Amino acid sequence: MSSAGTGEVLTDSYGRTLRSLRMSVTDRCNLNCIYCHNEGHIGHSREMPVDTIVNIVEVASQFGMDRLKLSGGEPLLRKDLEEALARLPDMKDISLTTNATLLKDRAASLKEAGLDRVNISLDTLDPDKYHMITNCTRGTFDRVLDGIHEAVDAGLTPVKLNMVLLKDLNDNEIEDMLDFTRNYGGDVILQLIELMDFRDIPRYRINANEVERSLLAVSSDVSVRQLHKRKKYIINGVEVEFVRPVDNTEFCANCNRLRVTADGKLRPCLLVNDNLVDVSKASREELPDLFRLAVSRRVPFCRSLKEQ
Ligand code: SAM
Repeated sequence: MSSAGTGEVLTDSYGRTLRSLRMSVTDRCNLNCIYCHNEGHIGHSREMPVDTIVNIVEVASQFGMDRLKLSGGEPLLRKDLEEALARLPDMKDISLTTNATLLKDRAASLKEAGLDRVNISLDTLDPDKYHMITNCTRGTFDRVLDGIHEAVDAGLTPVKLNMVLLKDLNDNEIEDMLDFTRNYGGDVILQLIELMDFRDIPRYRINANEVERSLLAVSSDVSVRQLHKRKKYIINGVEVEFVRPVDNTEFCANCNRLRVTADGKLRPCLLVNDNLVDVSKASREELPDLFRLAVSRRVPFCRSLKEQ
């Protein structure tokens, strides 16, 4: 067996069919967030050239994976992203996760190159807190706000604002963030994320059940997305998702994602480091079997953070 593209889909031994690819395109970042998991990577590695990115995405697409998320590090540190995007196959959804510090001047060119939408990390609306959380230089917060405006203007919508909830730091800002989101009409969605505490900062861990209860109390509608069984709330006309990756077997049971590290390794599971499949040097012909190998290595449930 080698080639892909005859309608074959990749289903792991636990019955989960792979539908989306999450690809880190760089480990470099221009911020240094106090909680960042760096997509499970420590240090900096060689980045995949555009040709490798395109080959991997094409094979994924031939296996019916029709959603792609580009991430990092900070993906906009790569100047060749537009070139890569322009060469990707047609997919249902191509999105990018960014801190938006460099987005203002590139939103239009990214859209033009084929990007559908962006997720933008914004944990607080208070510039001083933003500075504290991200260790950024002065003026960065305003550039992020400009980036959000420009993304909406360029049609990279719906823009999802990613807010990692940090106890006693920003968990009192959900309402302010809802108001901020509401100002953009339906073009912006709020995505609340439970902290995965890789950096041993227990004082910032929130109680996810409490957050869910408080969201539920004020929502007019709640639905459940297939991906990771994420709950979606409607609160005064604003869409809010809550991502709960911690000790959540439903997160894994409904995971349809394959990840790719910045240096070209297929990562079958978010929190597992010993089952990666190196595809950085693989030829186009070798890639399909390496995809099949990676999918065969998927585990039913990620180990808890304590065991890492
Ligand atoms: N630099 C880009 C950005 O800021 O969006 C992309 C990389 S960042 C690792 C991707 C997303 O992961 C961000 O929304 C960030 O908030 C989230 N994230 C990072 N560390 C996390 C953690 N420990 N727990 C939960 N979410 C985390």
